[in-house]
Amino acid sequence: MDIFELMKRFGVPQTVLQNGNLPVRSPIDGALLANIRTHNANQTTAAVNRAHQAFLAWRMVPAPRRGELVRLLGNTLRVHKKDLGTLITLETGKILQEGLGEVQEMIDICDFAVGLSRQLYGLTIASERPGHRMMESWHPLGVCGIISAFNFPAAVWAWNAALAFVCGNSVVWKPSEKSPLTGLACAALFEQACVAFGDAPDGLLEVVQGARAVGDVLVNDVRVPLISATGSTRMGREVGARVAERFGRSILELGGNNAAIIAPSADLSMVVRGVLFAAVGTAGQRCTTLRRLIVHNDVYDTLIPQLRQAYGNIKIGNPLHGDTLVGPLIDVKSFDTMQQALHVARSQGGKITGGAQVDVAGCMDGFYVRPALVEMPQQTELVRHETFGPILYILRYDDFAEAIALQNGVSQGLSSSIFTMNMREAELFVSAVGSDCGIANVNIGPSGAEIGGAFGGEKDTGGGRESGSDSWRAYMRRATNTINYSDTLPLAQGIVFNL
Ligand code: NAD
Repeated sequence: MDIFELMKRFGVPQTVLQNGNLPVRSPIDGALLANIRTHNANQTTAAVNRAHQAFLAWRMVPAPRRGELVRLLGNTLRVHKKDLGTLITLETGKILQEGLGEVQEMIDICDFAVGLSRQLYGLTIASERPGHRMMESWHPLGVCGIISAFNFPAAVWAWNAALAFVCGNSVVWKPSEKSPLTGLACAALFEQACVAFGDAPDGLLEVVQGARAVGDVLVNDVRVPLISATGSTRMGREVGARVAERFGRSILELGGNNAAIIAPSADLSMVVRGVLFAAVGTAGQRCTTLRRLIVHNDVYDTLIPQLRQAYGNIKIGNPLHGDTLVGPLIDVKSFDTMQQALHVARSQGGKITGGAQVDVAGCMDGFYVRPALVEMPQQTELVRHETFGPILYILRYDDFAEAIALQNGVSQGLSSSIFTMNMREAELFVSAVGSDCGIANVNIGPSGAEIGGAFGGEKDTGGGRESGSDSWRAYMRRATNTINYSDTLPLAQGIVFNL
């Protein structure tokens, strides 16, 4: 795959990919793809300046017209779906099907946002005063800062940006330093949509490249009223606190430690397929990856051998090849972290199947592993921690309350699921006393969310919501208006205040 040729198809010239200070390597085989330039603090501030100027113009454009730009972006993505999916695979190591799926998610959110551009509704409110009317107006917010993680290098941007644009905002995006080329490609595709649109202001999307120091500039700039940050809980703790200090708003989409409860009545053939996709998809590097399996004692001895067999049959290899189900980890650090977790699990009495490094022909500098199943005697500190790789810890339970306590007994609160044919269990699981996560599913695994729902989680996952439902409100400011159309001036609460 010639990376220069691929990037040219998006409109990114070769010169942008050479002589920079940030080497970009493919996790597939460790090959150097490009050397791109990062932004320093002054350049990042200049990008915020341009985005702020763009916002001042864009907020005046009627929302349905703003939707037209996002419609054009969706169409551009449709045309370039295969190329962008391929680039995502090259840069993150996720299999091509998942790379294409990520682009589809971008297209879907564009469609959603186009509809939304005619539905930014506010309430009318009954006033207690005669001849008065109250209403809510939703106004554009300003420059939205997006900081994204390596594992969804394009979709996270699109989830945020499509809504931000129809809501009348501009965007400054800092992609992960581990997947910057996807950022360049998305910016070039957005530029194509702007050309087709005709009169979009310059600076509507600024992409700044680099590591956390670049993100830091965005986080500290008061002209960025919203920071949407996706990544580790460690990152969110730092970013969230600093944005709050200046009374900015943040959407935090942080780490998960997602579980599935397997009840005695579960359809086990569905469980095996559901668990496999949720636990080993994207080589366990999804925020919603299934990391804990909580299995009822009555089905434990039937299910676990079936799972072991399925794990043994997973095709691990080059993610560009059609029959591969699991590609590489992102880098050696990720590999070492996974091996260290397995070492600790063993010392705590964990019974491990898989987990070893796999040699893939032609990919000697990639880090490939066989996904691991780890039967644990209890939910230790290790199990409560998010290790960002394909490790599935398995725990046993006897009664339903115990299963719910295990499911909720971690600091993260992103996604969760139950496999059961028992209606009481299913309803309890999604009730106020069931799962404490932002996402709670029945008879499907915890990963692979659709864009129609609000996405995000509680506790150490950060509390943010983005994508569907009414998430758009986070990208706008709300004004409450009282309008007096009478010829008197009654005060609220019946207060008399005569001169
Ligand atoms: P990371 O926290 O290392 O980096 C994420 C982004 O934050 C990068 O762009 C990085 O440069 C930036 N960053 C890091 N520290 C920063 C700071 N102090 N100030 C400003 N910017 C900073 O995460 P990662 O390794 O890229 O991604 C994996 C993590 O992301 C996992 O924990 C995963 O669960 C999480 N994740 C969560 C979601 C979600 O929606 N909840 C989605 C994808 C990934």
